[in-house]
Amino acid sequence: MLPWKKLTQQERQARIERALQENVNFAHDASLGYPASKLDGKVFNNEAPFLKDAPTLQAYVANPNHIGCHTFGTSEKAFSGTQKMEREVLKVLAEDIFKAEPLSYDGYIAPGGTEANIQAIWMYRNFFMNYCDASAEEIAIIASEDTHYSIPKASNLLMLDRYAVPVDFETRKLDKVALDKIVVGAKNKGKKYFIVVANMGTTMFGAIDDPEEYCEILERHQLLYKLHIDAAYGGFVYPFSNPESTINFENPKISSITIDAHKMLQAPYGTGVFLCRKGLIENVLTQEAEYVEGMDLTLCGSRSGANAIAVWMILFTYGPFGWCEKIRVLQMRTDWLCRQLDALQVKYFRDPFMNIVTIQSECITEELEEKYDLVPQKHGIGNRWYKIVIMDHVEVDHLSTFTADLKRTLHAKERTPHKV
Ligand SMILES: *Cc1c(COP(=O)(O)O)cnc(C)c1O
Repeated sequence: MLPWKKLTQQERQARIERALQENVNFAHDASLGYPASKLDGKVFNNEAPFLKDAPTLQAYVANPNHIGCHTFGTSEKAFSGTQKMEREVLKVLAEDIFKAEPLSYDGYIAPGGTEANIQAIWMYRNFFMNYCDASAEEIAIIASEDTHYSIPKASNLLMLDRYAVPVDFETRKLDKVALDKIVVGAKNKGKKYFIVVANMGTTMFGAIDDPEEYCEILERHQLLYKLHIDAAYGGFVYPFSNPESTINFENPKISSITIDAHKMLQAPYGTGVFLCRKGLIENVLTQEAEYVEGMDLTLCGSRSGANAIAVWMILFTYGPFGWCEKIRVLQMRTDWLCRQLDALQVKYFRDPFMNIVTIQSECITEELEEKYDLVPQKHGIGNRWYKIVIMDHVEVDHLSTFTADLKRTLHAKERTPHKV
């Protein structure tokens, strides 16, 4: 299969056109059985001349359905050409970025990180039920208080209890003493099986959890667990900015990862990625999905094959070195912002390998929040933090007008006597 490297525009276009040719062509083939076709030509101009040089848009017009999971068993033959490209994307993510052994994983491009996280928890819940004869009451989800709200959503949907581990206010690190107490309390309440979600980049802070902290405590109490990494935010940043990272499939305790291509990779929405080790995804096989060839191992059912191609395009336009360089630029801008904040003695959190800076709210006026679209930790009262995400469009020029404004408001504050 294609190794991850930079491809030219011609090579990318040729690869996509070949894949589309291997799929059923609704424009020419007599395909009678599918509730599917290319996009409606009355509405979407299929013959527009610019499509010729826009292979990703050609894929959107062809509208392949990637229903099911294409790393496992058989799949719908009608879309086998573009399914291969989805496998190439998964290979880059699992093998090149997250260091899995070749073909040792299953996965798919999910509608988003939310689905990928729910898929993981669903899979582990059924794993414990199938292999350990566990009841739902004996299974618990455990994750930090900074964890994304898709985890409480999963807990609600799958009817599993969830424990939120507090973190230190300034460092956003797990409170290990509290974690130990929570685990002991849960064990005393009859919890025997734990689904751990460790973050590679929390949504509000970009903080990186140390998954070993969970493992150590759960092992000490002789509890069984499965470890999922939520890298929706950091999956396209952290492994590149920190080559020493050990949060990947080389660690045998990590068995699944969520990565969002529609965040840091700037792919179209609908490009979350779910990856797990072989031998697990069967736990969510829906055998009743008999009309789908190979049945269905995913939560969502039908999904766009064009989204897989969009992710493929980004990965193979940059290649590994190009992507590393892009992340390095974002890191340099983030470093620049942090130096300015240090000089102003403004308190903030930043993981040194991430491109998110979260500033304590006492330094931020309402005017700054509105002018720069800063995102608060909580909408409404009680908010303590605002975040800045250094994306592609956030240049040092923008950051420098922000820090100049910040400096001005800080001086104004100093001159206003505190109300007693
Ligand atoms: C954004 C995010 C998600 C959910 O992703 P969606 O793509 O919005 O469903 C999950 N986890 C983390 C850490 C996130 O930042």
